[in-house]
Amino acid sequence: MTPKPVADAEGMDHLRWQCSRCAAFSPVGDLRYACTRCRWSGRLTLVIDYERVGAGRPPADVLLTDEHSLWRYARLLPVGMDGGGSRRVRSRYVAGWTPLHRADRLARRLGLGRLWIKDEAANPSGALKDRASVVAVADALDRGRNVIATASSGNAGAALAGAAAAVGLRCVVFVPRGTPATKVTQISRYGARVLVVDGDYDDAVRLSTAACRRWGWYCRNTAYNPCTAEGKKTAALEIVEQLGWSAPDAVVVPVGDGNILVGLYRGLCDALAMGWIDRMPRLIGVQAAASPAVHRAWAEGAADVSPAPARTRAESINVGEPQDGFRALAAVRDTAGLVVAVEDEEIFAAVDWLAAESGVYPEPASAAGAAALPALVARGELGSADRVVLLNTGSGLKAAPSAEGGSAVPVAADLRAVAAIGITEAAETGSEADLDEPEPKW
Ligand SMILES: *Cc1c(COP(=O)(O)O)cnc(C)c1O
Ligand SMILES: [Zn+2]
Repeated sequence: MTPKPVADAEGMDHLRWQCSRCAAFSPVGDLRYACTRCRWSGRLTLVIDYERVGAGRPPADVLLTDEHSLWRYARLLPVGMDGGGSRRVRSRYVAGWTPLHRADRLARRLGLGRLWIKDEAANPSGALKDRASVVAVADALDRGRNVIATASSGNAGAALAGAAAAVGLRCVVFVPRGTPATKVTQISRYGARVLVVDGDYDDAVRLSTAACRRWGWYCRNTAYNPCTAEGKKTAALEIVEQLGWSAPDAVVVPVGDGNILVGLYRGLCDALAMGWIDRMPRLIGVQAAASPAVHRAWAEGAADVSPAPARTRAESINVGEPQDGFRALAAVRDTAGLVVAVEDEEIFAAVDWLAAESGVYPEPASAAGAAALPALVARGELGSADRVVLLNTGSGLKAAPSAEGGSAVPVAADLRAVAAIGITEAAETGSEADLDEPEPKW
């Protein structure tokens, strides 16, 4: 049987937005942020007519298989390839299609069957946020907007500023007081206006939303703009494709607003509905115990998230009023997953051991996911039968410089000084055991 071309999917009428709270539908062509009927608290989720996109067909019939970026999955995105927006941003700021590294040494040490790290630091701005920003930029271009703005703890703003620079949009970024200079510098080097708000991330969200309404700027705010979760879902589609169209047992993800977790869930739902995977992995959300709003709601069995104090030093997950808490809780419940919390000391220790045992250097928020693994294994939530994917959400190069951790030693420019340090024997005893190990079969 010759497959029919997926002609219908070229238009947008197979797509609708649906409010996560009141279930009302709205057309995908309207510029909608949050649900107005739910006084802006409802988040919009893309509802796809999967039959029209080609459910049950092999992925190659549906995907743009020559596209080595997140636009590979364009037919499942709220911004099509027809408008000029995606075409303009797609080749100018190439986001997605990041590597999935096998972390065998860590898997063995932790007692996991298999561990992979999805390395989102390989995106152009060095974080997963590029996925949301390019889809939002494409949407803004399609709507003829020329100023785009966002609140950010640093990474979303850098991703937006980078994508805006590539296509020539003006960009305004609201960051909280105390945002690391590395991130503020990156955003301003891309040419964006950075406003350092005298307040925290939640204040920056409120101020930027109000500014967008007042001046008519296109608003990329996380979760409020539904393109964010839909863009981020491509990370999950890539994971299952890179695993040969199979679902891992669990995906471990740091949680601040909860939008990455929701995005992954959206991608996994799409893959399941299209028939590309046959079961849903568990989603395991990891919060900082010092910024625990989502974890607290989960532990209390609440249906919604209430604000909580936010004081973690891992700034990318330092959120007091999570913008996607409601959908994140639902996603964790629906996948039989869980939400756990880790202390800041565990997070900062994990930056070091994750880097040293996998070759992937995370920023602190990103290391929160890894920091939860030892306890998840000790509690029996994960074990030697499990295939686990860890998301490296952002590069360690983005973190505020710190003298903590690492093992740098000053040395005179002299070989005897090197010998005196006592590291020369270590070079000869380095283990090559990994090389003899047979490939585990899955
Ligand atoms: C944004 C971000 C997170 C958290 O994502 P949420 O959608 O806010 O839950 C985690 N790690 C890094 C590096 C981030 O930039
Ligand atoms: Zn609603």
